[in-house]
Amino acid sequence: MADLTDVRGWAAELIATHLDDSWSFAFDNAKTRAGKCNFERREISVSRYLAQKHSDEQVKQTLLHEIAHGMVGARAGHGPVWQACAAQIGYVGGRTHTAEVADEFAKWVGTCPNGHEIYRFRRPGNRAVSCAKCSKRFDRRFLVTWRERQTV
Ligand SMILES: [Zn+2]
Ligand SMILES: [Zn+2]
Repeated sequence: MADLTDVRGWAAELIATHLDDSWSFAFDNAKTRAGKCNFERREISVSRYLAQKHSDEQVKQTLLHEIAHGMVGARAGHGPVWQACAAQIGYVGGRTHTAEVADEFAKWVGTCPNGHEIYRFRRPGNRAVSCAKCSKRFDRRFLVTWRERQTV
């Protein structure tokens, strides 16, 4: 559970170190993504909601992820240029990350009745899917519910 005042402080410091004065920081109210880099507004934002659920380290990682976007530009996407930049400033990606952030690029998130999360890059078909963690074989008790989310 990161403290929001701390988050603001880290963001200001990271923006000063890696970006410039034209960039600012804000909290947003997203529930399904941890952070966002808004190129038009030159604004790095972090979900107030997820920041309060995540550890300090997770929130710092989110900030680094978004700041790397700011440094390399929107067109780089999550490609090699962004990856190299993110790694250089200390983003460790999937290694110590929550699924929420590591699978940020996945457009679809499924949840089973026991709260396991499943990520898909393509729209899931109409066929019912059951959670593989709850049961190795298809089981109606563990049906996955899908939702689409915004990715940046
Ligand atoms: Zn499950
Ligand atoms: Zn990203």
